[in-house]
Amino acid sequence: MNPIRWMQIEFKSDCRVGSGFGLAGLIDHIAVKSRNGVPYVPGSTLKGRLRMICKQAVLAMADSPRPESEKNIYFSTRGIICQSAAEKEICKDPDVQKCCVMCRLFGSEMHGGSLIFADAFPDNIDELEAVYIFNQDQTYLPLSWRTNVKLSRQSRVSEPKMLTTSEVVPNIKLFTARIYRTNYVEPWPTIESDLALLSFGASCITHLGAGKGRGLGRCILTLTSEDPNASHTG
Ligand SMILES: [Zn+2]
Repeated sequence: MNPIRWMQIEFKSDCRVGSGFGLAGLIDHIAVKSRNGVPYVPGSTLKGRLRMICKQAVLAMADSPRPESEKNIYFSTRGIICQSAAEKEICKDPDVQKCCVMCRLFGSEMHGGSLIFADAFPDNIDELEAVYIFNQDQTYLPLSWRTNVKLSRQSRVSEPKMLTTSEVVPNIKLFTARIYRTNYVEPWPTIESDLALLSFGASCITHLGAGKGRGLGRCILTLTSEDPNASHTG
């Protein structure tokens, strides 16, 4: 299946990488891929951040003096954005196309969303290189270790104990996530205006991962309708 969109993440500062799989406290960290040590931004992190920011954006838009016709495309057929201050209820219409844009894009307890957010991996680093980078002592990409790192290089990939540690990975600036449409909702309910909201939400995200207070994880997110790496990979 081809992606419907690509999410390119360009880090403007070092990004903090937490290796905390499934650990609630580290959910917002960028994680390290366990199998070969490639850093990635989990799709679930992207989805969570985008859901939050798109909701703020669409609620602000709903309160704005824009024409009703522009707002209506984001509301459910009942004229609401669900689970907001104005409307506590969740959209319950069995037809997700009649639900609000938040349900259409991201899903809810009642519905699957229409999009799958895959993990974002570094651009232009193939798996072999990555194994080299993270398993050799020669630092092909310099790893700078911040104060709270307790972990040895050797144990990083194989030891589950690393759950509470984190590291900073500089010099990996570009990550790309693929966004797919789910195929279990047919006809596919996401329309261009919904994707425009997603694109706007992406442009509002300025940080990913931990360490924001120390200037880590500054980034720019861009939603594209074509593979941004297509010219590199052929
Ligand atoms: Zn809804």
